[in-house]
Amino acid sequence: MKKTSAPPMVAAHSAPHPLGRAQRRIFRAVAAAMVGREMDEGVVAAVAPFLRALPPGDRRALGALLHALEMAPLLSARPSRFSTLPRERAEAFLRGWAESAVPQQRQGVAALRALALLAHYGRPEAWGEVGYSGPWLGRREVAVLPAAELRGTPLPQPRRTRPRPAVGIEPGVTSGAEASGDLRIRAQVCVIGTGAGGAAALARLAELGVTAVAVEGGSYSRADRFNQRELDMLPHLYQEAGLRATGDQAIGIMQGKGVGGSTLHNTGLVFPPPDAIVQRWRDEHGFPHDARELGARVAQVIAALHASPIPEAQINANNEALRRGADALGWSHTVAMHNRAACSACGYCMLGCAYNRKFNATINFLPRAVAAGASILADASVVRIEGAAGARRVLCELRDQAGNPTGRLATVEAPVVVLAAGALDSPALLLRSRLGGPRVGRGLHLHPAAAVSATFAEPVVAWRGLPQSVIVDEFAAFNRDGHGGWLVLPGAANQPGLAAILTQGIGSAHRERMHSLPHTASASVLLHDETEGRVRAGGGGRPVASYWPRAADRRELERGIFALARLYLAAGALRVHLPYAGTASVQSEPELRRVMADARSQRHRLALNSVHPQGSLALGPEMARAAVSPYGELFGEPGIFVADASLFPTSIGVPPQVSIMALASLVADAAAAALP
Ligand SMILES: Cc1cc2nc3c(=O)[nH]c(=O)nc-3n(C[C@H](O)[C@H](O)[C@H](O)COP(=O)(O)OP(=O)(O)OC[C@H]3O[C@@H](n4cnc5c(N)ncnc54)[C@H](O)[C@@H]3O)c2cc1C
Ligand code: SF4
Repeated sequence: MKKTSAPPMVAAHSAPHPLGRAQRRIFRAVAAAMVGREMDEGVVAAVAPFLRALPPGDRRALGALLHALEMAPLLSARPSRFSTLPRERAEAFLRGWAESAVPQQRQGVAALRALALLAHYGRPEAWGEVGYSGPWLGRREVAVLPAAELRGTPLPQPRRTRPRPAVGIEPGVTSGAEASGDLRIRAQVCVIGTGAGGAAALARLAELGVTAVAVEGGSYSRADRFNQRELDMLPHLYQEAGLRATGDQAIGIMQGKGVGGSTLHNTGLVFPPPDAIVQRWRDEHGFPHDARELGARVAQVIAALHASPIPEAQINANNEALRRGADALGWSHTVAMHNRAACSACGYCMLGCAYNRKFNATINFLPRAVAAGASILADASVVRIEGAAGARRVLCELRDQAGNPTGRLATVEAPVVVLAAGALDSPALLLRSRLGGPRVGRGLHLHPAAAVSATFAEPVVAWRGLPQSVIVDEFAAFNRDGHGGWLVLPGAANQPGLAAILTQGIGSAHRERMHSLPHTASASVLLHDETEGRVRAGGGGRPVASYWPRAADRRELERGIFALARLYLAAGALRVHLPYAGTASVQSEPELRRVMADARSQRHRLALNSVHPQGSLALGPEMARAAVSPYGELFGEPGIFVADASLFPTSIGVPPQVSIMALASLVADAAAAALP
């Protein structure tokens, strides 16, 4: 059993900086104004991996934004370039844009703010100032538990069935980065994506004796790659380095990439689908599986995840603050189930578990799939699905380990395709392949989340311990009749870079708040949303989401924010911080009422995030109302199935991994039955 005693260093990137010299100078000035102190060149170097992960169009737009910002103060009463303004004036200038009536200015500040805060607070140099004690790696000896090696070695487990291996690829994981020429692979089923849905579908198909190949846009990583540092792990584990957002930048959307998808970095909460939601799916959307059938799959998933109740001893102070407030108000709460074992409570689940103590898809479903003969081609991003029913071709661009195209292609020929690239990429892939009916990309739900934080007299140290354990379900109306309501979930993004983005304010006001990081508790209102957004294929075919909660959902969010702020006051918080830009912190309930009466739930004024995009290829009885049939088959395109979060016909209300895996395994049965 290996011990981890030193933090693995990530090699510096030798590629040129994505910003030109003048843009780098402006960015440094922006970072100084956002953070509220002078900046060295390090902040410019730290932002490079995030910029490299942006789509080229966004990088160009960012360059234009920096130029526009540089020139804008020339039109003011005291003309000057932005980068030469004294810091206080630069801060005031950015605040003006943040509160501007011009949406593009608010949008621009939101994008620059995230980049600057992450680049600054992600660096070890900034940690001491905010009291962040830093990663465990290198300081604590924690054993890495053994886990199956998926690369190239068939696992020594008995096979229930022995499918013919796919042609052109070995069982186990092969990296497309290593291909010396174009690849041509043949199988019965090609699964696209290896996250919650793709991994569960692949395991089921392989165990049914089907010859199945999965293609995955990201890389295959093992525990020793996860170094508990935001600057390295966000670009490695997340789409667009964790900075993916709706097209107008108003809602951040976190999604994973790599073999295992979002299960690599999720926070391990295990919730079965709520009965009332499933009943609504049956009543309104033709969901065909009865309680016994679905219940059996959910039970299999929960067993595969090794789910267990979170032990009382592992409830950290951040979660305890939530429970204290809920108890004081007499509100219902629960301690969740999770898919960890012998967890060391280091707190870095969102950056990948360095110790193999969270049962992500590379530990549960994918080893089973490989043991039953499945192959996985990593570093292979699907560009298009081509061909007619019965003879599909999945065309992939091969990538190097840094995610850049190698110039090589892979084609997987299979009569059946199972699409599981996540709720943004799956519809975008269908749209750029010109497949499917009018509902493709429509019906997007986000579970929009509004973060409220609170400063306590005593230390909270929210970054240490299990990130999420206590869930407040007092207002989860959807559990009763499938409609309305919200959950309160403890904040999981507690390391200083992500915490800085969630902390409202610009410049010195923001910096002051960051100084109380060790005393800060945070949680989010997670809305069961009825709003339907849309995913389109933007420049280069990449997903562009449009979504802003409609009026009824905004009112629900406001009720949730008010309730959560009350909860923190009841828990003894000194000050409570609301997710509205430019809003003062509150210290009492009358003050809270006054502030909430003036709060405007508009784009870039109310900060929202999503970690559960879903519903963009919803199942349903007919093409006019749904993208796929009740069994997950794309309307109008026999042999193409969907097996990820896109399938949900309504927002599910709870953390979705179990529901996705259970549905994916049912879809896999339908896909196997569709084989010629
Ligand atoms: C920070 C965070 C914490 C979370 N915590 C929890 C939790 O505690 N409990 C819970 O139930 N849920 C949690 N979730 C949500 C849950 O992990 C996701 O909802 C779930 O993993 C989504 O499954 P999926 O199959 O739809 O997509 P993913 O798991 O995201 O998998 C999609 C895969 O497709 C790949 N892909 C995308 N495009 C392409 C392409 N063109 N070609 C090839 N491959 C492609 C991606 O790289 C990715 O690997 C969390 C999510 C986040 C972001
Ligand atoms: S807290 Fe998360 S990252 Fe740390 S050991 Fe437990 S599961 Fe792994």
